[in-house]
Amino acid sequence: MSGINGKVVVITGASSGIGEATARLLASQGANVVIGARRLEKLEKLAAEIRAEGGTIATQQLDVTKLEQMEQIIKLAEEQFGRVDAIINNAGLMPLSPLEALKIEEWNRMIDVNIRGVLHGIASGIPVMKQQGFGHFINIASIGAYEVSPTAAVYCATKYAVRAITEGLRIELAGQGIRVTLVSPGVTESELAETISDHEAREFMKEYRRIALPATAIARSILYALEQPSDVDVNEMVVRPVV
Ligand code: NDP
Repeated sequence: MSGINGKVVVITGASSGIGEATARLLASQGANVVIGARRLEKLEKLAAEIRAEGGTIATQQLDVTKLEQMEQIIKLAEEQFGRVDAIINNAGLMPLSPLEALKIEEWNRMIDVNIRGVLHGIASGIPVMKQQGFGHFINIASIGAYEVSPTAAVYCATKYAVRAITEGLRIELAGQGIRVTLVSPGVTESELAETISDHEAREFMKEYRRIALPATAIARSILYALEQPSDVDVNEMVVRPVV
């Protein structure tokens, strides 16, 4: 067991990819994990597997675009496990397309999930963590938070926003015992590219995503930030595959 044994960790977007791998790893290290996503059946299946391995886990159907559902999962963590040590704002979408394709509904969905969803996690967590006098926000951005590539303008904009919000949060919460970490993955195996409806972007991504990290690599980065002593705040990690 590591330094996260007994910690209570809420993970959004845990029904696949990075969120799922993180739930498995943290539970295997003795954390009490609370997972949310829209596909409840996938969460329940994951929870059953984790429990069979001896892990402790609770599930809740969650749409991060709905503030009250985010508040509810935080309440669930408090009710079941007595506190909230960390919130991993991981849920995200990536329906890439050129701007001139005018896929406005997809832009709006990315803004709603990738930005508003993270803000809802922050809004739900701040009051609880301030009252506790401790806590840890881990927000998942992307290498798209540092550079813009064709077809990814809106996705990158949402991730630049997550980076800015995370930095602002860290600065504003200074002195309150609350840690703030940004984890920015490079290409990672997951279901993320399945949300791409644009043909050109889909073809480009097939090539771009040929070399990818396993989702467990990002889970280990998250574990690293979490298991540091409470006076150590890992501010930012960028994790890419070796090419
Ligand atoms: P996946 O598509 O495998 O996972 C995304 C997760 O987000 C799913 O569990 C999905 O579950 C959930 N989700 C989507 N919309 C919502 C919503 N409205 N409310 C709650 N949950 C939601 O992709 P990844 O694991 O790759 O993505 C995780 C994060 O990592 C994202 O923020 C992504 O941008 C980021 N990232 C990923 C990279 C990669 O190459 N894979 C690279 C850089 C960053 P459900 O559909 O059940 O709701």
